[in-house]
Amino acid sequence: MVHRVTLIPGDGIGPEVTDAARLVGEATGVSIDWQVVDAGERAIAATGSPLPDGVLESVRKNRVALKGPITTPIGSGFRSVNVALRQQLDLYASVRPARAIAGEGTRYPETDLIVVREATEGLYSGVEHWVDRDHTGAESVAIVTRKASDRIIRFAFELARREHRHHVTAVHKANIMKTTGGLFQTAFREMAPRYPEILADERLIDNMCMQLAKKPEEYDVLVTTNLFGDILSDLCAGLAGGLGVAPGALYGDELAVFEPVHGSAPKYAGQDKADPVAEILCLELMLRHLGEKEAADRVFRAVWETIAEKKVVTYDLALPGYTLTPVAPSSCSAMAKEIARKVPLVDPHAPLPRPHGAAHAGDPHLEA
Ligand code: NAD
Repeated sequence: MVHRVTLIPGDGIGPEVTDAARLVGEATGVSIDWQVVDAGERAIAATGSPLPDGVLESVRKNRVALKGPITTPIGSGFRSVNVALRQQLDLYASVRPARAIAGEGTRYPETDLIVVREATEGLYSGVEHWVDRDHTGAESVAIVTRKASDRIIRFAFELARREHRHHVTAVHKANIMKTTGGLFQTAFREMAPRYPEILADERLIDNMCMQLAKKPEEYDVLVTTNLFGDILSDLCAGLAGGLGVAPGALYGDELAVFEPVHGSAPKYAGQDKADPVAEILCLELMLRHLGEKEAADRVFRAVWETIAEKKVVTYDLALPGYTLTPVAPSSCSAMAKEIARKVPLVDPHAPLPRPHGAAHAGDPHLEA
């Protein structure tokens, strides 16, 4: 069977890391017919629009897309293409697993969290304005609806049930934002009793950040509104080893778009230096979504073994300051080739190996 998938390479390091993911995809033997479309800076140069209609049409038609990061100008310029894509395709659930791969590069090798973020409204609604002509004040409107809150909270509980997770935590700030936060809190409290086998609790966003920095192993699935989810998923990516290894997925009722947590890292663009793992793990999530479980397991395994072996890894997994056991860094393409080489060779059922030179006592992933 051939899977038809939209590929959006994106900006900055996007083309390099999506090339890496394609290479690993080929190594799985799964037939993927990539339909490449441009959004972001390349699309502006070609069409004048950062999000041409053809991009949305392609994702709607294929129902699945793999995407690289897209640059958003800060303060002025076009609105975020990423936000527009989520809103126009109604990709309401942003799911970001934070798994400490091989325990490398993290103080929290036991981290295994999933952040489920509402992706269509909240403070990302785009309703912002100056309050006066002199621009001495500004307002931003957070839109929170019962419909969107119910569906993201249901999504988080269903995901927990499907993936045999036992604990869902709602994160909000209902003590201060009494209407928007309060609505989300009420929706959570009314949904939780439908899932009696899952422990449901709540944390205020500030306390949640402190708890995650102190004892992330006590949490499992976190469900929250758009801005808090954005911040928490970077925090969790940091706990699990950094942005270079943090994948993400966006789901609507019919469509799915897979994109890394990281941005376009313009300072590394064109240098073949960026870590390809986040985008490769997006490919893994995509293969799982397409029902290609064996191929997905192989990709995860090949990534894990490459990082644990630590011979061919990019700077963020290699250099002092990022790791306790520095090695010479490899390029993005070399790491991708190494992962692709391993894909057909790995045994997806064998115990996961420990990283060389690093004894991470108590890591439940590390069985060897
Ligand atoms: P960033 O994620 O691009 O970079 C943050 C830091 O992480 C930088 O030091 C960067 O070099 C490093 N980094 C990121 N990805 C890496 C990788 N794969 N390997 C190694 N190091 C990596 O965040 P930023 O600098 O805040 O944003 C840059 C641009 O990306 C902005 O225009 C922003 O709007 C955009 N962005 C897009 C998305 C998306 O497309 N979904 C997400 C976040 C940011």
